[in-house]
Amino acid sequence: MSEQYDVIVLGSGPGGYVSAIRCAQLGLKTAIVERELLGGICLNWGCIPTKALLRSGEMFHQMKHAKDYGLAAENITADLDAVVKRSRGVASQLNKGVTHLMKKNKIAVHMGTGKLVAPGKLEVVGEKGTETLEAKHIIIATGARARDLPKAKADGERIWTYRHAMTPKEMPSKLLVIGSGAIGIEFASFYNDMGADVTVVEMLNRIVPVEDADVSTFLEKALTKQGMKIMTSANIGTIEAAKSGVKVAIKDKGGKEETTEFSHVIVAIGIVPNVENIGLEDLGIEPDKRFHIKVDGYGRTNVKGVWAIGDCVEGPWLAHKASHEGVTAAEAIAKEMGNKDVHPHPLDRNNIPGCTYCHPQIASVGMTEAKAKEAGFEVKVGNFPFIGNGKAIALGEPEGFIKTVFDAKTGELLGAHMIGAEVTELIQGYVVGKTLETTEAELMNTVFPHPTLSEMMHESTLAAYGRALHI
Ligand SMILES: Cc1cc2nc3c(=O)[nH]c(=O)nc-3n(C[C@H](O)[C@H](O)[C@H](O)COP(=O)(O)OP(=O)(O)OC[C@H]3O[C@@H](n4cnc5c(N)ncnc54)[C@H](O)[C@@H]3O)c2cc1C
Repeated sequence: MSEQYDVIVLGSGPGGYVSAIRCAQLGLKTAIVERELLGGICLNWGCIPTKALLRSGEMFHQMKHAKDYGLAAENITADLDAVVKRSRGVASQLNKGVTHLMKKNKIAVHMGTGKLVAPGKLEVVGEKGTETLEAKHIIIATGARARDLPKAKADGERIWTYRHAMTPKEMPSKLLVIGSGAIGIEFASFYNDMGADVTVVEMLNRIVPVEDADVSTFLEKALTKQGMKIMTSANIGTIEAAKSGVKVAIKDKGGKEETTEFSHVIVAIGIVPNVENIGLEDLGIEPDKRFHIKVDGYGRTNVKGVWAIGDCVEGPWLAHKASHEGVTAAEAIAKEMGNKDVHPHPLDRNNIPGCTYCHPQIASVGMTEAKAKEAGFEVKVGNFPFIGNGKAIALGEPEGFIKTVFDAKTGELLGAHMIGAEVTELIQGYVVGKTLETTEAELMNTVFPHPTLSEMMHESTLAAYGRALHI
């Protein structure tokens, strides 16, 4: 007889494992199915190991600038193998942490590849052979994988996806990064810090194109100053990988095509959802326009009892969004099963922060100035530079700014856009504010500690109303 659960979660990334924990907390008998490593892409191949690499790159960079702080550090060298080993160690520590959390919450872990074979029925082919599991509800959290460039499929030798870039066999001497979203820019930043000669090619007219245009302009200048070559409105022509390198034809924004040889290429042009071979078609589960699984605000698909969350549904494709959706779906399931104490809310996509951990860091939430204007808002915009902040100067990090966008009529905070040191930690202040539907009045009346970088969040709000104190 097949094993019976209240909920089975397919995939154990930050969407799946968090959802399973919340289901278990709500008293639901829960199982999780994973074909590779508990923790999914985020813990093993994404957010966490990249931050470990970036930390090494950043320290290396800082050590080279020790003199600026009155210190001496001579003969500084980087050992790429040791840097990668540390990053893999961090990932492995967190993978073990998720194993512990599954045990602690009494969640049954089935290692293997899962496929829906009927509503409420999942077949798992794995370490125990073929098992059939049954549940009242199934949550699909199968995530996504790197999108390949059709004309240059990643080979792990010269042409890399993020997985290869995270565990390099050798240090690239001349690196081309195709795509300037968060993943592309983070790898460009890491390898540039480690000493590679880095070129970034972006098809659109600015890098980090989802961010506010002012942030893109500032970042392009900062990365160029750090020695990177940035090409926007540029197109990749032929790519020829050989044993010694990759010859890539690039058409620049003026239409001039030139072929350059790189030692390695990282393809970072987005992701594709893992929606194949999991039984969606047979069950009639509908995709959305971009071939992700179509869901409502709680994660319900069009088939009763089947839910989907995370990177396999609509974006933004971020770990915290996946986890939040996981909690919402778990609570909506508990509610359907009669729990009267849970009150799930549909996800508000306007309040999901986005962070990029290059240096200077980038963080944002809500509408860009352009998007707010397009949406018909009359806006008040505040801008405060890092150079006007005592803590930033003391840290030796005077580069960056904080921009805020308010609705001129109501004072509602519509968006916040930051670039500079530690902004990925600061953004949460604005996210809390936005979730509470804050206006300029509460932000102005909030006391910010001194000396902190957070004072710039206050100053940016004041600047939007012509009241900034330190510029
Ligand atoms: C290099 C990189 C850096 C990133 N950095 C950040 C960051 O800093 N911040 C951030 O928020 N996001 C970041 N992301 C994105 C983040 O990793 C994803 O948004 C997040 O992992 C999505 O979570 P998920 O649970 O939907 O899916 P995933 O983490 O992709 O997990 C899905 C899991 O499902 C398993 N699976 C798939 N199909 C099956 C099947 N049929 N049977 C069994 N198991 C299956 C997979 O093996 C996988 O473990 C980064 C991504 C990359 C690639």
